[in-house]
Amino acid sequence: MPPIVEIAALYKSFGETQVLRGGDLNVNQGEVIAIIGKSGSGKSTLLRCINGLERFDSGAILVNNKQIDHDSAAAMRELRQQVGMIFQSFNLFPHLTVGRNIMLAPKLVKKRTTEQGEEQARTLLSRVGLEEKYDAMPDRLSGGQQQRVAIARALAMEPAVLLCDEITSALDPELVGEVLRVVESLAKDGMTLMMVTHEIGFARKVADRMIFMHQGKVHEMGPPDELFANPRTPELRQFLSSLH
Ligand code: ADP
Ligand code: MG
Repeated sequence: MPPIVEIAALYKSFGETQVLRGGDLNVNQGEVIAIIGKSGSGKSTLLRCINGLERFDSGAILVNNKQIDHDSAAAMRELRQQVGMIFQSFNLFPHLTVGRNIMLAPKLVKKRTTEQGEEQARTLLSRVGLEEKYDAMPDRLSGGQQQRVAIARALAMEPAVLLCDEITSALDPELVGEVLRVVESLAKDGMTLMMVTHEIGFARKVADRMIFMHQGKVHEMGPPDELFANPRTPELRQFLSSLH
């Protein structure tokens, strides 16, 4: 089976600043990838390139065997269905109920009927442990609950891969666990995941592979325990020691 995501020689600059410098990476079906690295190392930019939010200067990204091509509106529409993304800020639509937040995109893009959308929204809400919040407005929910709704909303598009960019960083510490438990259950269910996270213990437990980004490149990559036990470069050693 070909990889879900293939990245080759990816370069991206913002003005004079080179942010991505030629990284290669393949992500297989069902794999959970944790991405770690210092602030500014290009982690968010990498994820934003994969879901088409950011154009890259050169190199290639294939999702489900299709090249990302910003000049093709049809290809970009297809890409947005294949790649789900969740951010630090929850970005729920404030004027829509939880149920409608989840149903909106599938209804518009996948032409689901209202009945199909409702049923799916309820199923997804129960998957994230929030079935009783179907009719609630987002501002009545805690941050952890809002982020779980954001996960349900992303899943409603049935993406081939889900990108998570520091999705617990804005939460009060006591709300982090409930979101991580949902991510862990997705991983167990075989979802292909790429997550940038500062929750190193969690990443170590859940990830199949860990990627250490440094200066816009995949600097080290491997099973988490191996990376922790045997960092090969001074940069990763220094990063790991800065965590304690
Ligand atoms: P990380 O997520 O690892 O902290 P980012 O991908 O957010 O890193 O940023 C990498 C570098 O790119 C940083 O130096 C950041 O300032 C710069 N950068 C990111 N987005 C933009 C942008 N839209 N315009 C200009 N510079 C940016
Ligand atoms: Mg970032």
